[in-house]
Amino acid sequence: MKVAEKLELIENQIKETCSEIGRNPDEINIVAVTKYVSTERAEEAIQAGLIHLGENRDSGLLEKWEVLKGRPRWHFIGTLQSRKVKNIIDKVSYIHSLDRLSLAKEIDKRADKPISCFVQVNVSGEDSKHGMEPQEVEGFIRSLKDYPAVKVVGLMTMAPHTDDEHFLRKCFRSLRELQENIHSLDLPYAPCTELSMGMSNDYKIAIEEGATFIRIGSALVGND
Ligand SMILES: *Cc1c(COP(=O)(O)O)cnc(C)c1O
Repeated sequence: MKVAEKLELIENQIKETCSEIGRNPDEINIVAVTKYVSTERAEEAIQAGLIHLGENRDSGLLEKWEVLKGRPRWHFIGTLQSRKVKNIIDKVSYIHSLDRLSLAKEIDKRADKPISCFVQVNVSGEDSKHGMEPQEVEGFIRSLKDYPAVKVVGLMTMAPHTDDEHFLRKCFRSLRELQENIHSLDLPYAPCTELSMGMSNDYKIAIEEGATFIRIGSALVGND
């Protein structure tokens, strides 16, 4: 299926969900996750009108960057090793996986302009997932005042792979509560207005719980 056709299905789903719950669909930004697909397919996504592209490895991002350059806004969504920061920092608009002080320090050292970052939180309590524990997040964000190039635009989570809708909803809801708490601290470098949550299988629930950035791979650019 063409990306444009898949996009239409997803946009219809977003509109329907938003009208059910009284949200404005313009608040939802779609990040097309291109990590499994070719540069040609990523180019097709841009032509279909997608503005945000996401990659989870520096190699994948650099390979696509060679061809697509700064046409899309690039999102780095995967675990980021500090030593890889210098490879990607001048190419990305957003980093979704800020989860430790050493990474913030490296971003601050390498960036020549503020980078929009999401702090990744492990809300499900599964220890296989990356991200900080919810109770560590406020202290962590307070300590980021020493790194002016790190701008905390929001929080991000990866929900567990499950069909348990109730559990997914609980995860997304607790990320939102945490985001609202951080936002209310009124820290100049951490507006924390955004929520990066929801993937191919769970974006509808994520939108119902307040997502503003949904990261969609297979359902949007998958080769089927
Ligand atoms: C791969 C990936 C996605 C997209 O996953 P799909 O299930 O294919 O939509 C979203 N977020 C992160 C962090 C990913 O690694």
